[in-house]
Amino acid sequence: MCWIRTRDRKQQPPDYTKGIFQTLGFKEFHEYLMLPPDKKDSEDGKMLLQESIENMKMATRRYARRQNKMVKSRFLDHPTREIPLIFELNTTNLSQWDIEVKEKAINIINSFITNSPCQYEHLKSNVCQEKSNLNAHSSNYCKDCERLIIGDKEFLIHLSSHKHMRVLKAKKRLAKFAEMKKDEDTKQTE
Ligand SMILES: [Zn+2]
Repeated sequence: MCWIRTRDRKQQPPDYTKGIFQTLGFKEFHEYLMLPPDKKDSEDGKMLLQESIENMKMATRRYARRQNKMVKSRFLDHPTREIPLIFELNTTNLSQWDIEVKEKAINIINSFITNSPCQYEHLKSNVCQEKSNLNAHSSNYCKDCERLIIGDKEFLIHLSSHKHMRVLKAKKRLAKFAEMKKDEDTKQTE
């Protein structure tokens, strides 16, 4: 609040995309916090406070959705990344907060700090689960490289390998070359 006041005196509105001002609750409460003390208790002031609270709730929900998406895509769906253990805490029932969230979180952090096994189960990577469905003895034929590859995992590795990419690139180049040659031939016959 002091920050906002000093900045305002200098006629400089804070930049809500930088530093501490990005924190949830700054820009949502800006208008209310800028009111002189006597205005804060007026009907308009009270309404503004209610609006600010609603805006903050909305921004918090939006932020939580973004975070969930990030955890899922960067950690749980990432095929190669070494991921830290991720635990899911159920925050839906506020009356159970201490048991479901606070105590579990403290327990999880303690097990991390003391490097001891945790009594709660962490989330499994989606990629790991997929991997367990892979067949190690399947026959896979790569048409581009004209090669038979045994095992699903090996085939996936092959498809993203430099060797396979080189073959693909060479094929593309050849196709482009053939196309160019065809164009030239038709031009000559015209
Ligand atoms: Zn290939």
